Amino acid sequence: MTQEKVNVLIIGSGPAGYTAAIYAARAGLKPVLYQGAQPGGQLTITTDVENYPGYPDGIMGPEMMEDFRKQAERFGTSIRYGMATKVDFSNPTAHKIIIDDTHEITTSAVIISTGASAKWLGLPSEQHFNGQGVSACAVCDGFFFRGQEVAIVGAGDTACEEAHYLSKLCKKVTMLVRRDEFRASQIMQDRVKNTPNIEILFNTETIEIIGDENGVNGARIKNNKTGEESTINVTGFFVAIGHQPNTGIFADYLTLDESGYIVTEKGSSRTNIEGVFASGDAQDKIYRQAVTAAGSGCMAALDAERYLSEKGLH
Ligand code: NDP
Repeated sequence: MTQEKVNVLIIGSGPAGYTAAIYAARAGLKPVLYQGAQPGGQLTITTDVENYPGYPDGIMGPEMMEDFRKQAERFGTSIRYGMATKVDFSNPTAHKIIIDDTHEITTSAVIISTGASAKWLGLPSEQHFNGQGVSACAVCDGFFFRGQEVAIVGAGDTACEEAHYLSKLCKKVTMLVRRDEFRASQIMQDRVKNTPNIEILFNTETIEIIGDENGVNGARIKNNKTGEESTINVTGFFVAIGHQPNTGIFADYLTLDESGYIVTEKGSSRTNIEGVFASGDAQDKIYRQAVTAAGSGCMAALDAERYLSEKGLH
């Protein structure tokens, strides 16, 4: 195994990781950033990003992440391909991170920006129409379906929040709920139940998403109590069945909440381990926006810099 010592290691290359890199590099920390399995993160699988401030005409997700990368590189971040496969945070002055099982990095400050992945139903048609009517982010993509009829799968707080968001843009929202009740908090349930253009179909599963070369135009659904199948006509199909934070390798050391998100001190990026900071979707299950992730990446870099200064390491 090859070995290396670095000042600050950033794990992940979404808006949080790259923003942390920009700040850490400009502070003279010479950060090293490993991009992970999906360089650029979740934004590289979206199309237009219209809600990131500073881009009045919108920008394609992959292009925006390329700009983030260039900006981080411009100030001297060493950006590398590779996945963190194992960590050892037992010695607070020498955190160890193994990359691709072959390279061991020792550092005093680690910024975790490994993000989260949307959960999907697992239907081939869902994959086929991803980005062409199928989306896992109503706030990102709802605007493209204004005035149209859409469906959303899920029954948690996210599905209710997103259904309500879509109801303000779309003509009609059909919620597909697999059980005969919601999982969401009562207040969120009440909100969707009291919205006239949201129809809730309980005991309903999706068999297939239907469409053509222009994208989605419907979905085949089934009532799992009666076995009855039917088709709904929708042009947008949203999946809101939860996210999985990419935090598994940290579970032996960091405090995670019941869903696996890294717990940080309120108003900071500090975790329960000295010198380990977390930013972006790996620690945020509420907002999950590029701009909030970028903001928290900035916080993590500033916290890391202060930590290293206090310890006399920078
Ligand atoms: P949850 O895990 O809470 O809910 C997921 C929902 O998706 C469940 O209703 C589940 O159904 C359903 N589901 C899962 N798999 C499938 C499937 N294959 N087919 C159909 N339905 C499926 O995830 P959320 O993203 O909603 O919330 C995550 C956390 O974030 C929660 O703790 C939530 O409270 C919190 N949150 C809070 C918000 C707020 O306070 N404003 C906003 C958003 C999230 P079933 O119920 O049958 O298991």
